[in-house]
Amino acid sequence: MITALVANAKGEIFELEEYAAVGRAGTAVVPLTTQNTLPMPYGGELMFLPDRRPVLYHIGRKHFEMLDENPYSPGEPVFPVAAFNSPGYAVSYLSAYEENHDAGFLPLFCYGAVGWHKGKFRTATILVDSEQRQDLRLMKQEKIVAGVARMRKKMPSNRLREHLEKCALTYGCPAGKNFFLSRYEAPLPTSRVCNANCLGCISFQPKDSGIPNTQDRITFTPSPEEISEVALEHIRSVKQSVVSFGQGCEGEPLLASAVTEPAIARIRAATDAGTVNMNTNGSRPDLLEKLFDAGLDSIRVSMNSVRQECYEAYFRPGAYVFSDVIRSIDMAIQRGKFVSVNYLNCPGFTDTPEEANALLAFLKAHPIRMIQWRNLNFDPVRYWNVMGGVAEHGKPMGMVNLLKLIRNMFPNLKYGYFNPPKERAGI
Ligand code: SF4
Repeated sequence: MITALVANAKGEIFELEEYAAVGRAGTAVVPLTTQNTLPMPYGGELMFLPDRRPVLYHIGRKHFEMLDENPYSPGEPVFPVAAFNSPGYAVSYLSAYEENHDAGFLPLFCYGAVGWHKGKFRTATILVDSEQRQDLRLMKQEKIVAGVARMRKKMPSNRLREHLEKCALTYGCPAGKNFFLSRYEAPLPTSRVCNANCLGCISFQPKDSGIPNTQDRITFTPSPEEISEVALEHIRSVKQSVVSFGQGCEGEPLLASAVTEPAIARIRAATDAGTVNMNTNGSRPDLLEKLFDAGLDSIRVSMNSVRQECYEAYFRPGAYVFSDVIRSIDMAIQRGKFVSVNYLNCPGFTDTPEEANALLAFLKAHPIRMIQWRNLNFDPVRYWNVMGGVAEHGKPMGMVNLLKLIRNMFPNLKYGYFNPPKERAGI
């Protein structure tokens, strides 16, 4: 078992010797061990959770306990600790805690379970993509700043280039940084609007939601010339490059097809190199078809569930329906395009038997090429409550078991975290 971590009111994190750390997945709680954890991946961040009390496992008394105070310093309140893991790792268990009655929403992060062992942090994670695309050790700030200066000279009046500066330097967006570092995948945000209303939308949160959005939505619509200039700069500088519409700082890119369609046509008129990808909610198969005609290579469709009632409870679709998303996926598959599902994973929901069976049936009926196991950045307790309100859920089987089950049933299905270049996707 690995040692429990808590924090004091100042946010100072320390271990509690007699206690083991605990992971939670909905109704399931387990002590963390060296077997169900990994050394904390580089670049992860630790957080303490206000207005909540940690649930730990007392090793001597062999039972789970919720702590109000530091057992070694009575009267000193203690708080749960969680890890926001770096890209490439899917969480298998979340931080275990109980909310105080006045607890508000947690901000839009994933609260992974974490403990302490032999002088190191260990987290309940599964490596799903070993590519170093967003490894902060390879993304030196001084090189990013130099890249910003270089691109300013190359495209001084390009508003999209200017917007990406804010992404890279202010929001710390790894995709934005990679554009200025000429690495892997560059972002092409274009859309100011969306036809969904996700509970955990990171670019727009209604004032009354009580949740701050992580970054602001783009405030202008770049022209096809500005988009293709940024894209071609990246494609010409990077081997096996990817350029992607559909970023965290925008709405739904399909709704910007008036500029993305001519932009893709301009890119493809200039070169066959590079992979033009779209991260999308898949809501408009009619518009998507035109983008494929223009030269779009691959899509990644975001879904928290393939069960309609659970999908609708999270995405809260406006001007589209669940079957539109399925039609987009089927149309893309029929056209031989590389289709990934951006599977927003939350232990305690995603690994329930009902979700697992639905996913198996979905994969059988809609042979996508890849699942990107993405951690859902949303308050887990509130999410379990919402999902529990629209569907039945049995005992979670554990994310490790779920990934094994899907792998056994679909051995050719790729697992990952990042959009692959066509050279590796076999497009
Ligand atoms: S589809 Fe994307 S932009 Fe639209 S509400 Fe959901 S997270 Fe936000």
